[in-house]
Amino acid sequence: MDYFAYRDGVLHAEDVPLDQIAEEVGTPAYVYSRATLVRHARVFREALDVLPRRQIAFAVKSNPNLAVLKLLSSEGFGADVVSGGELERALAAGMSAEGIVFSGVGKTRAEMLRGLEAGIGQFNLESEEEGVELAALAAGHGFTARAALRVNPDVDAGTHGKISTGKAENKFGVPYDLAAGIYARLAALPGMDMRGLAVHIGSQLASLDPLERAFLKMGELMRAIRAQGDSVTHMDLGGGIGVPYKAGEVFPSPAEYGAMVARVTADWDVTLMFEPGRVITGNSGVLITRVIRVKPGVTSPFVIVDAAMNDLARPALYDAWHDFIAIRPSGETITANIVGPICESSDTFAMGRAIDAVKPGDLAAFRTAGAYGATMANTYNSRPLVPEVMVDGDRWAIVANRIDPAAILAAERVPDWLAE
Ligand SMILES: *Cc1c(COP(=O)(O)O)cnc(C)c1O
Repeated sequence: MDYFAYRDGVLHAEDVPLDQIAEEVGTPAYVYSRATLVRHARVFREALDVLPRRQIAFAVKSNPNLAVLKLLSSEGFGADVVSGGELERALAAGMSAEGIVFSGVGKTRAEMLRGLEAGIGQFNLESEEEGVELAALAAGHGFTARAALRVNPDVDAGTHGKISTGKAENKFGVPYDLAAGIYARLAALPGMDMRGLAVHIGSQLASLDPLERAFLKMGELMRAIRAQGDSVTHMDLGGGIGVPYKAGEVFPSPAEYGAMVARVTADWDVTLMFEPGRVITGNSGVLITRVIRVKPGVTSPFVIVDAAMNDLARPALYDAWHDFIAIRPSGETITANIVGPICESSDTFAMGRAIDAVKPGDLAAFRTAGAYGATMANTYNSRPLVPEVMVDGDRWAIVANRIDPAAILAAERVPDWLAE
């Protein structure tokens, strides 16, 4: 459920007609709905109320906009960060260091030190080597690092290969069979407070079954680690719940997820941690765009829009589907290919799709663009960096400026030895 809907024939975000934002900000632009973000945050939080002790760390990489982080911080969310840059964003948004989890397979010494200095709640270790380095760094600087060991449970998440993370051949975590031994060795290191295990098997999961299989395996591992005399007080169950990208698709609800977790973890006696990303932000945003031109194609016409793969990379990266709807639909439909202006054939949003009939100059929206949208944008083909807007009832504000090609050009230098 979200707050993007037609009123008097015009697509609105809450009470604001999207054509008004397009006129004032220009296109392409991301538009987020505050009410939708708040609703998703609360529905997720309430779904976990059945659990005795829990912490939610929003996966910042899904939407790192400062205004989004600020809003989620005031909803009681911490942050799951995967780089020093995301750590600074979470702190800048006012999130407590205690509520920050640092994930990621290649944390540098500088990033780990910054996390220690800031006093973050937990490092999720991706290898024994990383744990040894973190412990030495912490001990050398007079800190104790709170950490969990990320385990690769070798479970197929049943999602797109490029967003699967829990199969044995993926780069994430330590192998399941070696985890108990690694845990014991890391727990014995000075500077290290090993407090639990972490798992995250992938993103855009359409079923709870692979999650349940992974959690059951993690529960067994937890018992084995306790049996060898090490303590486990925290279990981080990651993120990954999928959202519908096509009208009519049905996905597991947060409530079903909460009930499954409650059942599987009933006797764990730990603080459970969660790292939701897409399920909070996905349906909270759209990417608005204007049709530049329509040209004939062999089977269907090409609708060329002013948004491109540099603004919304998911279709090019993962063959992802985003519904495309007119902001002022005429009621007619056409079958068309939707493409951006970039000089790559992968700059294609849809092929042979039935869509609202649009003509040059018309405005349209790609739906469900709030997660892994603006954050993946770049300036390929020397295009501007796409702006972001947040709507709140009948008011709205730009929450990230468009960055013009001129500003990017100004950061480039020609060395003297080329200028002669
Ligand atoms: C990306 C990621 C998440 C969030 O995944 P979603 O599918 O957006 O919920 C959570 N934890 C880790 C470690 C991640 O890499």
